Amino acid sequence: MFLLTHNVLTVDVEDWYHVCAPGGAATVPPRQSWRVRLNLEKILALLDEHRHKATFFMLGSVAESDPDLAPMICAAGHEIASHGYSHRLVSDLTQQQFRDELQLTGRIIMEQTGQRPVGFRAPQWSLTEQTGWAFDILREEGYLYDSSLNPLPFVGNYRGSRTPYILEGEGSVLWEIPPLVTKSWIGNLPTGGGWGFRFFPFRTVCTAIEALNREDHPAVLYLHPREVDPDGPRLELPSLKRFVSYGTRTDAASRLSELFRRYKFITLKEMVYEWQHVS
Ligand SMILES: [Zn+2]
Repeated sequence: MFLLTHNVLTVDVEDWYHVCAPGGAATVPPRQSWRVRLNLEKILALLDEHRHKATFFMLGSVAESDPDLAPMICAAGHEIASHGYSHRLVSDLTQQQFRDELQLTGRIIMEQTGQRPVGFRAPQWSLTEQTGWAFDILREEGYLYDSSLNPLPFVGNYRGSRTPYILEGEGSVLWEIPPLVTKSWIGNLPTGGGWGFRFFPFRTVCTAIEALNREDHPAVLYLHPREVDPDGPRLELPSLKRFVSYGTRTDAASRLSELFRRYKFITLKEMVYEWQHVS
């Protein structure tokens, strides 16, 4: 089946050790263990094969460490947005630190690609309604959309909307574009990315996408480069966190290929421009 509503694949561009958890990497592992470029190349090849475009939320520190990555993504016609600089949780930052991270990452991406990011995603869904000041800063820094309010229990904003909306606040329009989830009696399930995308039956993911598309809403999927790297290194983490971060079914690539065959994918920026055009 091919539905006319567009969907979006988003990729949080970070390495295998960028896991927010007690016991996460305290220091950056040696360069020879980095896998982000290798895995990005796999994702870019897959997108190219199916002629889709995607949005890449780039971590400023990763872009700085390997200055070829952002130009490589940009040259393939994809969008580069911001994932902050350090991968620290927004809830752990002061307002000034949040602004500094945003500006620094924006500057790095601008210098490397000639384009300023207009979209933001917080590390590990750590921007919530409790850190609402961050939305004001995003507006002041010229951002058009945020994609951090994942409507999930525990790590997200579980009462949040499952479809895009305009965030309330002073100043310019700022869209919130939540990732895909599946409603269930125990709460929303993360079918749109991470462990849920790899774990639930493939049919469940497709059903969730098609349910949103039938209402003319996009499904927004999210992926980390480490998820197409079943043989990559792993941090020693508590078992639940290890499952959420790395396992099970560690290679998401075959599922992605199948989705790319079934649905149409564009960038979040294109989508927001379309909405602004019609509103
Ligand atoms: Zn991240």
